[in-house]
Amino acid sequence: MPNLYDTLIDRAPVDRTRPFATLPDDAIVTYADVEARSAGYAHALVGCGVTPGDRVAVQAPKSIDMLLLYLGCLRAGAVFLPLNPAYTAGELEYFLRDAEPVLFVADAARRDGAEALAASIGAIRVETLDDRGGGTLAVMAVASLGDFDTVACPDDALAAILYTSGTTGRSKGAMLSHGNLASNALTLVDYWRFSEADVLLHALPIFHTHGLFVATNVTLAAGASMILLPRFDPAEILALMPRATVLMGVPTFYIRLLGETGLTRAAVAGMRLFISGSAPLSADIHREFRERTGHAILERYGMTETNMNTSNPYDGDRIAGTVGPPLPGVSIRIVDEATGAELPTGAVGGIEIAGPNVFGGYWRMADKTAEAFRDGYFVSGDLGSIDAAGYVSIVGRAKDLIIAGGYNIYPAEIEAALDELSKVHESAVIGVPHPDMGEGVVAVVVPREPGFADGTALIAALADRLARFKQPRHVAFVDALPKNAMGKVQKTLLRDAYRDVFA
Ligand code: ATP
Ligand code: MG
Repeated sequence: MPNLYDTLIDRAPVDRTRPFATLPDDAIVTYADVEARSAGYAHALVGCGVTPGDRVAVQAPKSIDMLLLYLGCLRAGAVFLPLNPAYTAGELEYFLRDAEPVLFVADAARRDGAEALAASIGAIRVETLDDRGGGTLAVMAVASLGDFDTVACPDDALAAILYTSGTTGRSKGAMLSHGNLASNALTLVDYWRFSEADVLLHALPIFHTHGLFVATNVTLAAGASMILLPRFDPAEILALMPRATVLMGVPTFYIRLLGETGLTRAAVAGMRLFISGSAPLSADIHREFRERTGHAILERYGMTETNMNTSNPYDGDRIAGTVGPPLPGVSIRIVDEATGAELPTGAVGGIEIAGPNVFGGYWRMADKTAEAFRDGYFVSGDLGSIDAAGYVSIVGRAKDLIIAGGYNIYPAEIEAALDELSKVHESAVIGVPHPDMGEGVVAVVVPREPGFADGTALIAALADRLARFKQPRHVAFVDALPKNAMGKVQKTLLRDAYRDVFA
């Protein structure tokens, strides 16, 4: 396959005046603009001394220019390396030292700090972008709009290094090739029935696989268009639904949409698909959303290292609490984590993944890379099972597994039971040291009504749903769960906070 950019743009609408993106100010970026402006960025990169294989680190606000820069990087054969704008100077230093980019594209508002940091690290050139088409790199790109000879790339050439979300530890740089990304984009277009008629509501961040690759590559590969929003705002999403057909979100999006009285069948009449991923969607939210809108949210499972692995079907049953069967071309097995032996249907074990979507390894982490593969399969670190119909269910991360009194306890099962209770808005279940049991189960609960704090009542309500050994021994009430930029509950923080409750 050729350069990923060519794979995507070859599928653009024949009529290049068709929109690719509608911006917050209602300006339209057409497919012709995508070609001309990504060429502008590719020229700008070459002008900055970037050659094929060089890393281009970008920590900039979400904007169409950042997406065009991503495409410019592909075209120039450079490696796109986006960073969360929320990273502090200290975190940024870790990423820049680790990645050794030739060019660092910083937020124009933070230029001084970026230059000082780059100078302290070494030969890193600094240019800037802002969120309105400004910044030094944007100026260079505008000066060289037009054509660019897209660099030929073999399938295994590096297209991007994407750092994992850092939910379980220090973020790791996943090396993704042109072939990895192209295969997944084409599969998803097909599987989710994307077409030129689609309009995606894009409210996800674009430094992460979900908003960058799933949302952007799928839109491009379908010749569809997107409404590019700086952030998620439930009222704004509702107001825009009549102009859109698809929403891609994290579970938090759906929880917050359900908080809008305007979320009705009439409001979603023009929408054809609601997709959720990046974190578990509770069966409760799935049901509530269906009751309110008539739509079964389509949940899928992916990760930075692999793009998307499984998805509930477009036509068949979208089963709440499952992430659906493996995508075409993707192979998933459930194994005994200790021995690697494959487990029978229905048994819970480590989820391992193989396919053209799976990354080549972690950037400059040979040890972690070696640990991450077994017989050609990627060891995901997630635990789950596959049922007789081929649907995968995730029970949690291996690191979050609770072992109490010798029993394995999967937090997701307890969270699901808690979330069903009318008094519970959201919950997170963790294990912390317990003098007798090894670990004790702690439920951290956000109540539906502020002020509710009756842990005994909640435990009593679980009595006929969960075996005694699974029931929480301690319930803590909080206003909100700690979540990272992708809406993932940061259980490491919770384990630290409640470390001593049984001491
Ligand atoms: P790190 O690897 O740095 O600890 P992370 O695993 O959160 O962070 P990502 O690659 O962004 O980084 O997230 C992938 C993980 O998100 C998966 O391994 C899985 O645990 C979780 N995940 C993604 N989609 C789903 C889903 N639909 N249901 C449950 N979990 C999901
Ligand atoms: Mg991970």
